[in-house]
Amino acid sequence: MNDLIIIGGGPAGVAAGVYAARKHLKTALITGEIGGQSVVSEGIENWIGSSKISGADLAKSFIAHLDAVKNDHVSVHAGERIQTLQKNADGSFTAAGMNNHYSARSILVASGAGRRKLEVPGAAAFENKGVTYCASCDGPLFSGMDVAVIGGGNAGFETALQLLAYCKSVTLLHRHKEFKADPITVEKARAHPAMRIIANAEPVEVTGDVFVTGMKYRDRSTGEIHELKVAGIFVEAGVLPNTSFVQEMLELDDVKRIKVDPRTQRASVEGIWAAGDCTDELYHQNNIAAGDGVRAIEDIYLWIKKR
Ligand SMILES: Cc1cc2nc3c(=O)[nH]c(=O)nc-3n(C[C@H](O)[C@H](O)[C@H](O)COP(=O)(O)OP(=O)(O)OC[C@H]3O[C@@H](n4cnc5c(N)ncnc54)[C@H](O)[C@@H]3O)c2cc1C
Repeated sequence: MNDLIIIGGGPAGVAAGVYAARKHLKTALITGEIGGQSVVSEGIENWIGSSKISGADLAKSFIAHLDAVKNDHVSVHAGERIQTLQKNADGSFTAAGMNNHYSARSILVASGAGRRKLEVPGAAAFENKGVTYCASCDGPLFSGMDVAVIGGGNAGFETALQLLAYCKSVTLLHRHKEFKADPITVEKARAHPAMRIIANAEPVEVTGDVFVTGMKYRDRSTGEIHELKVAGIFVEAGVLPNTSFVQEMLELDDVKRIKVDPRTQRASVEGIWAAGDCTDELYHQNNIAAGDGVRAIEDIYLWIKKR
């Protein structure tokens, strides 16, 4: 029986794994892969302690750090995905993966999230070549350029406001007539001279050669197709948390993120914690996810020692 199962090997799960090892908690770290979402990134420029690191090198540094501290305390099961989680009669937990079953007295869910993708021709081919899902990561690369933002929620408008600080122009496209974003945020963006907002606009194609050069969208009220010349397309169409295996068990918010106590990372069931992008915290970044993982282990350690 493990003290702890960590589900996920992104910054939240790996930070938790390092702390669990140093506290000699018998831990199984189970993950699809080590590195997490930003593993595809060409250059991460805000991972503290490193002015620029590729996602691939970040993942390598995670593996090296785990290898250096794990000893017999933490076993790493990469290439495994948890499909179900259940609480047993004695209060322990069993997590069923594709390859094995794992049991432990406590669980840390650090399974992260994926961005809802733009599903039009060209969007996948130009991902990371102009189509991006993270403004705070990639925005500065488009300084002085014309860009588009897809999405009329708060994330879309906040991304637009962020980009307006250094882009030549920002065009926000939204499928519907009404915006989901807070009116005050919409008005703030609307007031900027470099901002253009197009409602009722449905993206239909991303165009380019090596990199994005533009996109086409349909005006949903007239059916007409228009072309927009942009170098960058920031997609803010929502996130999809990886929480299906706990959706019957834990309290989730309306977009299926795990509700946690932000002081401790405790979820709604005794013995389960959650950290990083799979939780209902407001901001999603590598450093924040790592901090969440650390906070969770501090609390899990005390919880285990008191039992
Ligand atoms: C393209 C891109 C670039 C980004 N760039 C930056 C940046 O420059 N700076 C920044 O701060 N943030 C960046 N972000 C955001 C950042 O990557 C996330 O905030 C961070 O990765 C969240 O970490 P996490 O550990 O919570 O989850 P994730 O990184 O999503 O990791 C989740 C882990 O859980 C595993 N997993 C999922 N489901 C299961 C399951 N059922 N069983 C087992 N394992 C599972 C996955 O394999 C993965 O290892 C970027 C995001 C994207 C998409």
